[in-house]
Amino acid sequence: MAFERVKGNLACDGVSLAELAERHGTPLYVYSGETLLANIRRLHGGFRDLNPLIAFSIKANSNLAIIRLAVREGCGLDIVSVGELQRALRVGVDPGKIIFAGVGKTDDEISQAIQAGIGMFNVESTGEIAMIDSAAKRLGRRTGIALRVNPNVKADTHKYITTGTTENKFGIDFALIDSAIEAVKAAEAVDLVGLHCHIGSQILDANPYRLAAERLGEVVDRLREQGLDITHINFGGGHGIAYEEGQTALDPAQVAEAIQPTVKRLGIQPILEPGRSLAGPAGVFLTCVINVKRGVAKTFVIVDGAMNDLLRPSLYSAHHRVTPVSDVARGNTRTEVDIVGPVCESGDFLAKDRLLPLPEAGDLLAVLDAGAYGMVMASNYNSRPRAAEILVLDGEAHVVRRRETMDDLLTLESIPHTLR
Ligand SMILES: *Cc1c(COP(=O)(O)O)cnc(C)c1O
Repeated sequence: MAFERVKGNLACDGVSLAELAERHGTPLYVYSGETLLANIRRLHGGFRDLNPLIAFSIKANSNLAIIRLAVREGCGLDIVSVGELQRALRVGVDPGKIIFAGVGKTDDEISQAIQAGIGMFNVESTGEIAMIDSAAKRLGRRTGIALRVNPNVKADTHKYITTGTTENKFGIDFALIDSAIEAVKAAEAVDLVGLHCHIGSQILDANPYRLAAERLGEVVDRLREQGLDITHINFGGGHGIAYEEGQTALDPAQVAEAIQPTVKRLGIQPILEPGRSLAGPAGVFLTCVINVKRGVAKTFVIVDGAMNDLLRPSLYSAHHRVTPVSDVARGNTRTEVDIVGPVCESGDFLAKDRLLPLPEAGDLLAVLDAGAYGMVMASNYNSRPRAAEILVLDGEAHVVRRRETMDDLLTLESIPHTLR
């Protein structure tokens, strides 16, 4: 499986990470095709009695090779922008399996998606229904929508990245559903095909899904009383993974069990939009030690990867396990270190207060579970070209995005002629 040690050296699907770093340089993202496929299959397996549509949420990892692999495995794609629409179409997904979510879709984005023939829009407000309707009429087409309901499920036993309560910008509040239903009835070119909810991210307990399903079930009953039949409920993504030692990933079978009573009672098809749980564990971020700096209070391991490459630690204080690529070189004595990048920000760190065999300059470290919300959030801050991405498929490593060069960065800029 996946990322395993071969004689003490970490490998990705049997390919040595040290060799990949040698060949392609660092910092470097490396993805395990086997792990991505295993995660998709495990999700299918957990939900097999419910015949779900699995729409990979490509904002987690939108590399063409990754999304092509998911599509080849039968996935649809969940998108949040017209840029992601272009990526989805580029990998040959059946447009009917594209779901367009997002709180601020523009007229232009809506029109392009209708023209592409996407499966449905997840609608976030009453106003958006009218926008989609007029775009569809203008184009002489019909389109499907699902109402994104805010089920006001508060997941308060864990620190979720919550999106399903009345205090945030996403979805239509439970109390305002009736006005959305009126807007649907008034629309001429949209078909209400489903309901949608996405209650948060990195959720490690299935119970919030049960509560959300029950809530949405009540809305379906209300719709059916009014003669509006829907065929789908989209339960969003959010399945948590084991970022930290001792955590257990949320088992898809438990989520299936939680929503099953509602799904069976209503006779609808569930849709799932996972991002992190499919792609996260399938990627590592490789970085090379530049220097080890001993301060008075702390020891800093300064590496060539930084917040511009992997933002999650800086942005959310997210925890990623970090491990030496070779566990034979430096013995067993562990030292507490902060692993920091070269960017000129105190907030630029990959990990804090970790016990590691003290590395030396030139050693490689692997930041684990970096396959989701890693490269997609990378920037060029400090004029740092973005890292390359490697996908290992059937034991063979492919460069699926080459490393940026300074020419790539500079080609978009120009100096006004009056300054020359
Ligand atoms: C981000 C997002 C997802 C994917 O979330 P994960 O936590 O990565 O599974 C799914 N649906 C919507 C609407 C999202 O915004």
